[in-house]
Formats: sequence, C-alpha cells, structure tokens
Amino acid sequence: QDKDWQFMVRVRAPAGRLTAAQWLDLDALADRDADGTMRLTTRQGVQFHTVRRGDLKRCIASIEEALLTTMAACGDVARNITTSPAPRRDALHARLEREAFALSSALLPRTRAHHEIFLGDAPVGEQGDPLYGESYLPRKFKTSLAHPADNTPDILSNDLGFIARTDEAGEVTGWIVTVGGGMGMTHNKPATYPRLADPVTVIGPDEVERMARAVVRLFRDHGDRSDRRHARLKYVVAERGVDWVRERLSEDLGRTLPPAPPLPRLDVPELLGWHEQGDGLIWLGLPIPSGRIADKPGLRLRTALREVIGRFGLDPIATPQQDLILSNIRPQDREALVGILRGHGVLFAEELSPVARWSLSCTALPTCGQALTEGERVHAPIVAQVQDVLARHGLLQERISVRLTGCPNGCARPYSGDIGVVGRSPGIYALFVGGDFEGTRLSFPLVDKVRTEDVGEALDPLLAAFAVQRRTGESFGDFCHRHGPEAMRALREAPVPA
Ligand code: SF4
Repeated sequence: QDKDWQFMVRVRAPAGRLTAAQWLDLDALADRDADGTMRLTTRQGVQFHTVRRGDLKRCIASIEEALLTTMAACGDVARNITTSPAPRRDALHARLEREAFALSSALLPRTRAHHEIFLGDAPVGEQGDPLYGESYLPRKFKTSLAHPADNTPDILSNDLGFIARTDEAGEVTGWIVTVGGGMGMTHNKPATYPRLADPVTVIGPDEVERMARAVVRLFRDHGDRSDRRHARLKYVVAERGVDWVRERLSEDLGRTLPPAPPLPRLDVPELLGWHEQGDGLIWLGLPIPSGRIADKPGLRLRTALREVIGRFGLDPIATPQQDLILSNIRPQDREALVGILRGHGVLFAEELSPVARWSLSCTALPTCGQALTEGERVHAPIVAQVQDVLARHGLLQERISVRLTGCPNGCARPYSGDIGVVGRSPGIYALFVGGDFEGTRLSFPLVDKVRTEDVGEALDPLLAAFAVQRRTGESFGDFCHRHGPEAMRALREAPVPA
C-alpha cells in the first residue's frame, strides 16, 4: 500500500500583498485542502500544511483561480520578492511595491510544466528558459527591496537587495545594490556560514530589473553546482570578492559600474498597531505568533480575520515578521472592527511584551523535512522563559528580538537578531547573540548545546550583566557585540554577582 503522502503548499505573494478576495479564497482552502490553518512565512508568503496528495492538484488550481500562484515559491529559482509591508500611500512605498511585483514577474521561470501538471494545460514542450537556461540556478535565490527607514525585510540577509535612495520629495533617485547575503549553514561544517550581503554598486532608478537579471545570470554561471551546501551566491561573493562581482556585472550590463557608497543607517520601525496610510484610511498591524492563523479555544484568529476582511473589504499584507497588516480601514469602521477582533479573543500588539512581539519562529516539526528539532511548537514556551528572565532583571519593556529555528538553515533569520535559538538535535539548541535589531550585524555562537527548557537560564547571566552594565541607549545585541564572544561566554561560566 502506498504511503499517505502529504505536502506543504506555499503561495507566492509579491511584497506580501493580497486582496480581500484572495484572502477569503485562501481561507476557504485551509479547511477544504489543508489542516484548517494558514501560515504566514518570514518571506511574506502564505503556506498550507498537510495537503494530501489527492487534494494537491485541486488546491494548486484553486490558488491560481485566485490569481495567485505556487510557482517558484520554492526551488532553485528566484523566490518571493519581499519589501517593506507598510501601506503608506506615498511615492516611495508605491515604488517599492511596484518594483516588487515587476521583479516577481520578470524572474518567474517561463516553463509551462507547472500549468501542464497542475492546471491541465496541453503540453507544449519546453523551449528552454531565457534567464535560467536549462539547469536553473545552483540553489535558491532571495531578493528584497527596502528603504533605510524600514529594514523590516532584513535586506542584507538576501542574495540580492535594492536599497532605495530618495530625494527630498521621496522620489526614488537610485538604488544601492547589495549582493551575497544568506542565513543557512550546517552545524560543525565551518565551510558553511551565515553571511550578510555586501554593497556592490549603485544604479539608476529604472535599472532594478536589468540588474536583477544580471545578478541571476552571475549566480547561474558561477555558483557551485557540485555541492549543494556550497551552492549559494554568498560563497561566490565571499571567495571572489566584491570587486570581482562588480566587474562581472559591469561586463554583463556593458558599462563600468561604480563602487557602492557606504550603506546608510537602517532602521526597523514599529508597524503593528494603528497607523494612518496617508490617504484618509488607516491600517492595523496584528501580531501573529509564528505566523500561524488558526482557530483555537479562546482565540479564533482565523475566523476573526475572515470576518473583518470580508465585512470591511480589507486588503491584508503579510509582513517579513510573520505578522499581518490589515490595510485600507475606514476610520469610522475602527470601533466595529475592534469589537469583532476582541470578540474572538485576538490580541493586539500592545498586549504582548516586546520580546514576544519581536520574536520569529520557523515551522520545523512536524511538517518540515529538514527539522532537527521543534520550532513553532516550542516558540511560546521559549519566549516565556526569556520573558521571565527579562522581568527578573527589570528588562521586560526592552525591545529584544528572539529568532527560533528547528535547524541551522535559518528560515527565521536567527543569525541577525539579538538572540538566535537554532535547533541542533531533538530538544537541543545552539544559542547566538550579538547581532543587531536592525539586521546589519551577524551574531556569534554563545553556547553550542542547551536543552529547550534551559534557554532562558542560559541567557540569564548575560541579561543580568546587561541590566547593570549597559551604556545609555545600548541594545542587548550591541552590548554583547561590544564585549565580544569570549567575554560573553566567560560571563556564562562566572556570572556577575547579584
Ligand atoms: Fe527552515 Fe530548518 Fe526551520 Fe525547516 S527546520 S523551516 S528548514 S529553519
């Protein structure tokens, strides 16, 4: 007898933007074809879990009918394009959104196989892909667009990034191009490592697509196809250097590209809660722990979202923080909307501690085949442990990010926040600290093996020292970075006396 096969189905949603109608269509699929839940990913996509083989084709066809696709949401191709999720109605945000959609289309493979397999299209034969060639890319390829005041998408963790430069009117005057970021690594394999992208060059306002194609070609032609662990673009950049990359891109584009200017300061703003869009409408950012949208006793989140999105015609936006923005709310609907959400037990951002609100976690067990241990299912207990330690040291209102993954592939970007918790083996995690909240500095390994139930206590000596020794305005990540790995590890062995 055949196995009871089940699949994860990921929807590609450029910039995380969905319409109300699309959300309602996806919501219906959660019951019909999946496990009754939806999951927002750290790349602004939407996932369904436990789709059974017999339902797979119907599920994917229904997603296409909603004018969305699962095509190139996974695989060795350009993945979902991320950007600032803020629905601010100004020239800058309109441009970011437009570029994300344009890039998403431009970098989509031209194969018809997806349509033949899942949508019943007549076979037309493969013509070869003008961008990807015959063999596609050595591995996945992640692209993001951002502007300095909103690095919510963690642009430097991407293979390719475009950071907007603007004039006083907020019009985009050019883009700093960053190349060679990526989070994945393998435990005990020093040749694999997380890396932040380097600024490589600067281009004009209308050159995003041309540059993206050139970087894809560079990766296609120079990435390591002999070893999947070494197949990311970040290793090409690390080993060949930024100047080499710029020269190759200059050859491809037929002109000499200038070196990049220094990176501007990047910030991560608060997008949850209530905000004015700038067009008379408002948005509400809702925290979604682990991105999981489900109905549970006392918290009927999926039902609540279906009701408010359907009744008020709100367009949802999935954020790179696994949260959800409900956009285009009329101010006069605010009270009724809050009533519905409250009626279903939905929590608002201000009801969570900052560490809970700024935490991320990947799915891991039981649905991710790469998982070494738990992710989403221990997210709340681990955050509660850290919260307890923060409370002990008077730090509960401190903005600290915790990022948890069930394996070192790093889908929840654990190496670029304040605290990274990375699965090693069942019930065991490695801890990382010293990154920064803004995603511009990698963290360093603190402890190699900690049991799930000991994560909070393992951080206690560091947080105790931070509480009494921090400089004015210093963040936890900056504090760990200032003292360095040796001092932080020594602190764990000999904590500061209370
Ligand atoms: Fe990604 Fe690993 Fe988490 Fe799976 S277990 S979602 S591969 S980080």
